[in-house]
Order: sequence, then C-alpha cells, then structure tokens
Amino acid sequence: MKFSVLTLFPEMYSTFCGTSIVKHAIERGITEIECINIRDFSNNKFRHIDDTPYGGGAGMLMQVEPIDKAIASVRQENSYVVLMSPKAKPYKQADARRLMNKEHIVIICGHYEGLDYRAEELIDEKISIGDYVLSGGEVASMVVMDSIIRLQKGVIRDESLDEESFDNALLEYPQFTKPAEYKGRRVPEILLGGNHAKIRLWRKKMALYETLKYRKDLLRGRKFSEEEIRLLHQLKKELEEGKDPLYTYEV
Ligand code: SAH
Repeated sequence: MKFSVLTLFPEMYSTFCGTSIVKHAIERGITEIECINIRDFSNNKFRHIDDTPYGGGAGMLMQVEPIDKAIASVRQENSYVVLMSPKAKPYKQADARRLMNKEHIVIICGHYEGLDYRAEELIDEKISIGDYVLSGGEVASMVVMDSIIRLQKGVIRDESLDEESFDNALLEYPQFTKPAEYKGRRVPEILLGGNHAKIRLWRKKMALYETLKYRKDLLRGRKFSEEEIRLLHQLKKELEEGKDPLYTYEV
C-alpha cells in the first residue's frame, strides 16, 4: 500500500522511513511512503501557506488552497484522505485493522493553529492519536503509519500479530527472555517448562490480569468465555489471598 504524506516538514520522515520495520517494509516493496511539501503549492513568492484567522484570535491557520492543490497532486481513484487532528475519536487498534486494507492513504498534517475549516471538508476522515494537543500532525501521522505498516502481510511474522494487546480487547500478557533469573527475580516457572496447554491458560489469565490492572475500561461490555470466567475467579481468589498471580502455577 502507499502513503502520501502532505506536510510542511518532510525532513521529519527520513529517520522514520530509514529505520527498522518501516525501512524493511519499504525495501521489500510492501509499503511506499512519499512526502509532499505543502509549501510547494503556495500561491505567493514567499512560499507562505498560512494566514491569520477571520474574526480574530491567536496564531495562524493553514490556508485551504495549498492543501486542496497538494491533495489533487497525489489523488488517485482509490485514494482515502485523512487529516491528523485532535478533533476526532481517539485512534484504536481496530482503526489500524480497518485502514490496513486501503490501497492509498493520503495523510494531511496540520501545523500552527490548524486548518481553514474548508480544508477539513476535503477529507474522508479525521484521525486523533489521543486527547492532547500536539504542535503538528507529523508525529501523529508516523504513529498511524507504523501501526498500519506492521500489520501488512510479510512485514512481521503472523504469529507475532496473533496475540497482541487490544486484539481480543485484552492487553498482552507479560513476556520474559533470558536470563531466567535477574537480581533474584525469577521468570515464572510455568514458562520454563514445556506444557503448552498450561502456558496458554497462564497467558490468558495474565492478559486478563494486566487488563484489569491497567485498562478495566476495555472489559466493559466484553463477552467472556467460560474459560475466561474461570480464570477471573481464580485471579480474584489469589488476590484476596495476597498471592501474586504471576507466580501461581495453578491454572
Ligand atoms: N487549534 C487546534 C489544534 C492545532 S494543533 C485545536 O485546538 O483543535 C496543530 C496540528 O497538530 C493539528 O492541525 C493536527 O494536524 C495536529 N495534531 C494536534 N494534536 C493532534 C492529535 N491529538 N492527534 C492528531 N493530530 C494532532
């Protein structure tokens, strides 16, 4: 799939595109990222693309014309145009899974105080990465692209994607690597044995525990399987008895 990023700061993307998983996805031809400088579509010799807001107020707004022209310069039949903006529902893993199927995503990065409202009418969707205000859409656009690129077939191993946080509406279970003991803190015994059925149950239980600890809101309205309900009861009992569920092997 292809991304066309419309930005005032294309140089911000060189490290992003040249590093790690994103770099490999580009090298393997799975993803293409082109950066377009909105300033190239300025209508004046000073290359300005912003102006003061009608009605007064602080700061500068990006003008509609350069944005309109920048979109037109990259638009294809299959283009889906998004605007990075704090004025949207926060972006979720489910959005990454929905957008991974688009063939061409055009991402507009705002800056300064934002955009002339008429530019917002040129788009298909606004994406916010969270309830806070950034100084520009560039970092946010990298968050969105990264989350979509790693889901593309052939970028990372399918198994790595199978049990990740948020899929299944649970956070990921704790993971450990060598050494088996560090400063007296041992890896849970169950992971060192080869009982895969038990390990699966332990992981499910720990995913439930992590989610209860940090993101109870994810569990609201979720349908639990019988197995999950049993694991939740076990967790409750262990916690009441003052045990650390990480180190209880019974599952
Ligand atoms: N005055 C605007 C904020 C402008 S911030 C307001 O109050 O709504 C400048 C630009 O940064 C925005 O146009 C947008 O592209 C980007 N941005 C800021 N916060 C963001 C967020 N949470 N998610 C995605 N993009 C964001």
